[in-house]
Order: sequence, then structure tokens, then C-alpha cells
Amino acid sequence: METLNLLVVDDEPGMCSAIRRALATYEIPAVNEDPAVAFAIDETDSAEAALEKIAARRVDILLLDYKLPQMSGMELLQRIADSQTEMTTVMMTAYASIETAVTATRRGAYDFLAKPFTPDELKSTVYRASRVRLLQRRAHRLMQEKRRFRLELLTIVSHELKRPLAAVETYLNIIRDHSAGDDPAVYQDMIERCRVRTGEMRKLIMDLLDSARIESGQYKRCLEPVDLLPLLEGSIAAARSEAEANGVEFVLSAPERLEIQADRNEMQIIFNNLVSNAVKYNRRGGTVTIRLASQGTSITLCVADTGIGIGQEDQANIFKEFSRIKNEKTQDIPGSGLGLSIVKRIVDLYGGTIHLQSRPDEGTTFTVTLPWGP
Ligand code: ADP
Repeated sequence: METLNLLVVDDEPGMCSAIRRALATYEIPAVNEDPAVAFAIDETDSAEAALEKIAARRVDILLLDYKLPQMSGMELLQRIADSQTEMTTVMMTAYASIETAVTATRRGAYDFLAKPFTPDELKSTVYRASRVRLLQRRAHRLMQEKRRFRLELLTIVSHELKRPLAAVETYLNIIRDHSAGDDPAVYQDMIERCRVRTGEMRKLIMDLLDSARIESGQYKRCLEPVDLLPLLEGSIAAARSEAEANGVEFVLSAPERLEIQADRNEMQIIFNNLVSNAVKYNRRGGTVTIRLASQGTSITLCVADTGIGIGQEDQANIFKEFSRIKNEKTQDIPGSGLGLSIVKRIVDLYGGTIHLQSRPDEGTTFTVTLPWGP
């Protein structure tokens, strides 16, 4: 049950108490996504006092008399508009000309209630005003969530970019000052490390772009028959230098041709992420076994590694954005925590599934199933 604060501003004796009586037991039941609503009613007889009340506590619905002793209802409306305080205002008036109605609407009035009105007319006006107010409050909450998420995103991204940037800067300074002795191999090694670090930054930026594109739903998907094997081989080729550096071997089993109706880019993103993770989180001298097969009306991709594995307690979280398992085994492994969340969203777009089986220190197998056609 949500409580909306309703303020009645009227100098006519008896009007405030009549409204209070009519709405005393009035509640709006929950409908679909809208919660049930009850009202906390407050009252005052002047615009000046109303301003004080509005400053002191949130007002959701304002029932405002047009004619008030000093500052008029219309002036009060303008003050509220100037202060950008959000509420839903209903003007109560015995003589609403078109002109006053236009002015009041311009100043933010949502509705009019012609005096005298019956309790039922009052309730139906308050009902409409409360629906609008609930919508405003929901939009406000969404906006706040969006702001919080943006800030969180910026904090994570800048943190993740700062580390590799600092490392590259340090190496570049040493190379510029020639401060690591005369052995060219030392500098060569530093240049290679810089290359790895810039690669990490590029991966983070690409992941962010993929994530934003898929989230917005505004990119143009191109669904066409796609042969999966060349894409899979492309992902393996991209991960090969890191695999070789760690003595990790690939074992691939796949039919020569396996076509599904899909977006080529999306398939590449799935393969790239699963294959590169299987290399990245593997042990030295480990194996990555990849199996692509068709099964009934779907295709199945299994990517198994012999790496650090994922504990049961972390398995449910790894498909969430920016979720990275933090322990001594992963602390030196770079990543954005975005890859699997992107993979999961793409798999969902196809009505497919993604599962994992894993044991710490033994390895992990990700299994993706996609229907032939979306
Ligand atoms: P990241 O860029 O950090 O690799 P992902 O979204 O791809 O982000 O993965 C999320 C987390 O899941 C990783 O940080 C890692 O802790 C864990 N993870 C993913 N794949 C594997 C794997 N094959 N083996 C072990 N842990 C993995």
C-alpha cells in the first residue's frame, strides 16, 4: 500500500472538513502494476501556509482553491512551478473561465473541480490525480536508478582503465629515460607488456560497446544463415597467442559445416568470450576442449577447460554485469566482468540456454544451446 500526501488549500469554512470526511475511508485498490493507495490528508486556509507545508514535507496531490485571501491560488501555482516541486494539482473553483483554465494548465495544474462538487466527483478526480502522481513517482525512481547505475558504471570503468594505464605510463617512462640498463631485451619485454595492457583496455571498451548496443536494442541485427565453424576458428585464432604463452592446447571437434539462422556478430561475441575465458582461467599446460554439434532442432556448443573452476556459491552470479570472482587465483587475471552477461543476453535473444558445470581447481564447462532459427 502506498500513501499519497494530499493537501487541501481552501479558506471557505467547512470545505476542508467536507473533503476530509469524503476521503476519510477512501482507498484505491491495487490494479496490475499500480499499488493500492491510501491518503494522508492535511489542510490549510492560505497560500502562504501552503508554501510552508510544501517546503516541510512532500505533497503528492494538491487540492487548491482558486480564490484565496492574500496570495491567490494562481500565484501559488506559479510559485510551485518556479520551485520545480513535483506534485499533481487540482484547481477547485466555482467560476472557471476558459482563460483561467488555460493559465492554470500552463502553470502546471492537472485538473479542475467545479464547485460545488459531490463526494463521488471528488473521489473520481482524486483517483485520476493519484494515478498520474504514481506514474510521476515511478518515473522519478527510474531516473534515480539510472543515475546511480551510470555513476557505478563510470566508477568501475575508470577504475579498470586506470590500472593498465598506470602500468603503460610507468613502462613508457622507463623506456623514455632509458633507466633500465642497456639490455635491449628488457625494453622489448616492456613494450610487449604495454601491448598486453592496451589489449586489455581495448577489450574492456569493446565489451562496454557490445553491452550498450545489446542493452539499447537499437542496433540492426542481421539474421542470415551463418556457418559457425569459421567463426569458432576465428575465436580460437584470436586466443592462440595467449594460449601458447601458457602452454594451453586446443582440442576442437565440429562438423565441417553447421549453419544456423543468426546474426554473425552475435555468434562471434559468444565464441570469443567463452573461448578467451577458457584460456584466461586455465592452468599452465591445460587444455581447452571445444565441441560444436547439432542436436535435433538446436545446436550445442561446449567449451571445457582444465582451469581454476568456479565455486558453487559464485556460479549464480557470474552472468550478472560487472560480476567478477575475486580471490587469490583471479587477482592477476584481467577482465571487465561483462563478457558472460553479454553472452547470456545474446543467448536469451535466441531463446537458447547457457549452463555451466564446474569444480574448483578441476575446470569449467560452459554449454550453450541455440535453436536453429530464432
Ligand atoms: P571477465 O571479463 O572478468 O572474464 P566474464 O563476464 O567473462 O568477465 O566472467 C565473469 C567471471 O566469471 C570472471 O571474472 C571469472 O571470475 C568467472 N569465469 C568466467 N569464465 C570462467 C572460466 N572458464 N573458469 C573460471 N572462471 C570463469
